[in-house]
Amino acid sequence: MISQEPVRLLGNELPEDSRENELPGSCRGNEVPGSYRENEVSGSSREKDLYEKLNILTDAAKYDVACTSSGTARKSDGTGIGSCEMSGICHSFSADGRCISLLKILFTNECIFDCKYCVNRRSNDVERASFTPDEVCSLTMEFYRRNYIEGLFLSSGIMKNPDYTMELIYTTLYRLRRHWNFQGYIHVKAIPGASQELILRTGFLADRMSVNLELPTAESLKALAPHKTRKNILAPMRLVQNVMTENRQEIQVYRSAPQFVPAGQSTQMIIGATPETDYQIMQVAESLYQKFELKRVFYSAFVHVNEDAALPAKTGEGPPLLREHRLYQADWLLRYYHFHAEELLTEDEPNFNILFDPKCNWALKHLEAFPVEVNRADYKMLLRVPGIGYKSAVRIVKARRLGILDFADLKKIGVVLKRALYFITCNGRMMYPTKIEEDYIARNLLSAGEKLPAEVTGMRYRQLSLFDDVRFRENFYENSICV
Ligand code: SF4
Repeated sequence: MISQEPVRLLGNELPEDSRENELPGSCRGNEVPGSYRENEVSGSSREKDLYEKLNILTDAAKYDVACTSSGTARKSDGTGIGSCEMSGICHSFSADGRCISLLKILFTNECIFDCKYCVNRRSNDVERASFTPDEVCSLTMEFYRRNYIEGLFLSSGIMKNPDYTMELIYTTLYRLRRHWNFQGYIHVKAIPGASQELILRTGFLADRMSVNLELPTAESLKALAPHKTRKNILAPMRLVQNVMTENRQEIQVYRSAPQFVPAGQSTQMIIGATPETDYQIMQVAESLYQKFELKRVFYSAFVHVNEDAALPAKTGEGPPLLREHRLYQADWLLRYYHFHAEELLTEDEPNFNILFDPKCNWALKHLEAFPVEVNRADYKMLLRVPGIGYKSAVRIVKARRLGILDFADLKKIGVVLKRALYFITCNGRMMYPTKIEEDYIARNLLSAGEKLPAEVTGMRYRQLSLFDDVRFRENFYENSICV
């Protein structure tokens, strides 16, 4: 059971009349829970108008990918509608699968820390700005009323100290929920090092919380973000996990109990700034899913925004987007396809294949498990077949109760046959006579229009010979017979 007692925030207790019904409480007029006072927010931002702040703080938020879309650079040519260049609105998916637009902003881009990879670090000479809680509330409400957004994604640099920043975030959410009665989606960052009480209180107002892991290992964190420690990051993550568990039990007993972080927690790792392999990154992600019950791990390809000897040298190749993409594919396999990190990569082969997605690559390395008979294979094995997604696997299991499936049925179900045909049989027969051999299947998959990323310059698989091509062989025999 979570304590319903008011807590002491940064030395100042809540005003008497805001204590009732804590947690959650009622916000009266302009009173502010805790010690934060409006005129204390950063001096540098006071002269800027709201529009300027919005420009600065949406732009500063674009490097945070712990939502679903971020960072594309395609500009509008001015003749059509929309532009991908403007930051500010990102998308997320709610538990029922709806795509929702979020106002994505930093509360402040001022920061006392000096993380080497971050554009907002203390030592960078960038224009600084900070919102006030009321400004964030009115922006959210105005955008919501105009139907631009359905929720808020609020992150922040660290102003003064973690507690001070967390309290500002808490105050913002408190006002938004209690004063403005905003009931839309809110994703908020928990600031590492902030007090447990503040994180707890904020969690009762937010839908999702995230604490950024930043870098995969403690050594990398030490090298690039010396002000942060693994302990400071994992402690709030554990706290959120424990309170979520307690809250689930509490809700079973008291159905009207306030919900704590109902959409779960997530985190983000920067990829490519430090030398960890994909194998190490997947191990970390898997352990976060298992030990902290995270909803999502986001991978953010390292973007070179600072010159620093501790960062990898600039190569002109841009951020490692293909690597980020492969990690997301593998992450999907961990969460929905019952794979383990150990199966996808090994210490001897620690990075993903650039030619094939991780599932296809796994199948090519485990041809002894194929072909799979779709009319009999269990659900988990169907999930491992390239070309069969988790929705198709469910449909196959349901449909085969009604009769024996053939390739035409699989096509209707949504199986991508040009990929799956090398790995399945239907009623004991393959779609075409084909060899179960790694090089052969790999070449055929590539020649059958497997989308190659632009970065791929060389092919690892053996050159295709005319006699390797099934269709060539069939045509050849047909023609021979005719002759
Ligand atoms: S804490 Fe580090 S990553 Fe976060 S805003 Fe400050 S400098 Fe950037």
